[in-house]
Amino acid sequence: MQIATAPGAEARPDTAGTAFDYVIVGAGIAAASAARSLRRNDPDGTIAILGREPDGPFYRPDLSKTLWVDESAQLDSGWLLDENTGAELRTGTTVTAIDAEAKTLTLSDTSTVTYSRLLLATGSEPRNLELPMSDRILYYRTVEDYRRLRALARPGSRAVVVGGGYIGAEIAAALAQNSVDVTLLMRGTTVQGHMFPPRLAEEVTQTYRDRGVTVIGGSGAYGVSDHTDHVIVADADGETHTADVVVVGVGVIPNDQVAQQAGITVDDGIVVDEHLATSAADVWAAGDVARYDDPLLGRRRVEHVNNAKRMGTIAGRNMARSRTGTKEQDPYAYTPFFWSDLFDYGYEAVGVLDASLETVEDFTDDRTAGVVYYLDEGAVRGVLLWNVWDSVEKAKQVMEQSKTEPLGADDLIGRIALE
Ligand SMILES: Cc1cc2nc3c(=O)[nH]c(=O)nc-3n(C[C@H](O)[C@H](O)[C@H](O)COP(=O)(O)OP(=O)(O)OC[C@H]3O[C@@H](n4cnc5c(N)ncnc54)[C@H](O)[C@@H]3O)c2cc1C
Repeated sequence: MQIATAPGAEARPDTAGTAFDYVIVGAGIAAASAARSLRRNDPDGTIAILGREPDGPFYRPDLSKTLWVDESAQLDSGWLLDENTGAELRTGTTVTAIDAEAKTLTLSDTSTVTYSRLLLATGSEPRNLELPMSDRILYYRTVEDYRRLRALARPGSRAVVVGGGYIGAEIAAALAQNSVDVTLLMRGTTVQGHMFPPRLAEEVTQTYRDRGVTVIGGSGAYGVSDHTDHVIVADADGETHTADVVVVGVGVIPNDQVAQQAGITVDDGIVVDEHLATSAADVWAAGDVARYDDPLLGRRRVEHVNNAKRMGTIAGRNMARSRTGTKEQDPYAYTPFFWSDLFDYGYEAVGVLDASLETVEDFTDDRTAGVVYYLDEGAVRGVLLWNVWDSVEKAKQVMEQSKTEPLGADDLIGRIALE
């Protein structure tokens, strides 16, 4: 176990206490926001953050974007926890059990920590394929994964990326821009085809090909063998691809098992009320792991930064208020947005981007910018802002309006300016 007061700070001997006013399980984006919020709202309470990764809270978007495409970008600029929180950060520390009655956590080394108030910010973890264990096969999520990928994906090396969704698409683009020979194996036929309408998905896929990526649709990885200094991946047609590294990006699952074992209500994520409180007394949840009531979209779980940051802030505030005697609890009544960068494309989006829904597309003539509305019987469930910026609030207004007034193409085309 490593103990430090800030990420990157030198570890100091394990002399820390075992009882805290606030304990945060998970040392990710929601945890860092919550720690800041706790300290803003309670100057005195003791805070511990227990995270199983070897590193402290890090801004994960950098791992598939800036660090690969911006030469001035440094790993050091992505750490999220500053010393002002006074939080005790314990990295390499997995919480294996929660006793919500006794308010005690058991750690992987069998030691215990007690809390007065607990935040579960355990995030999500990559879905695994049944592949052999190999340090050349990365389920890409952590700073450690980034370090390893950097070491293996040298210019001129070969990478197989499995999965054409959010992470797979970003990593394939990032590697191709670093002179890595990339083969992208996808179950679908187009890059992010489950999210984008067909024409847009085909245009994006063609860009990948134009930028040197070998795109193979209709195939996941069907067999992977590890050969010490390389890996061989067989695709669905039985064709083999030799690679220095395989990056798998086939979605994530919520880290809700410890909560479930503790008897806390879980339903594909930890269920929280409008104040982010779980079914257990004095236990809150925030970030990727939390299933909450979205004011526009109903019960859902969101796997994006904007949500993790905001939830962490509100949860921290509510936890601090409950300790400092302020009765009022703030609701989390928010529909978050997310974004991605793929080569020269960039987008922001709100809500559900599901290509199987009815879509209304509003693009410029040259198709460099556009808005896609995703409709379910006149209700706008999601909006994709393709190279269109500063329009997230407008997109939410359209979604809000459509809750009471079904909308169609005539109402939507031209609604958001394509600047
Ligand atoms: C490469 C990459 C790029 C991304 N890019 C974007 C982007 O551009 N935009 C966007 O909106 N989102 C992006 N995301 C998603 C975003 O990073 C997540 O939504 C966000 O990190 C969620 O924050 P969190 O705090 O809920 O979870 P996490 O940041 O995942 O942190 C949870 C932490 O809890 C730890 N943990 C789990 N269980 C235990 C336990 N039992 N004991 C101790 N610790 C535990 C985990 O190891 C992890 O460190 C990206 C994700 C990745 C991986």
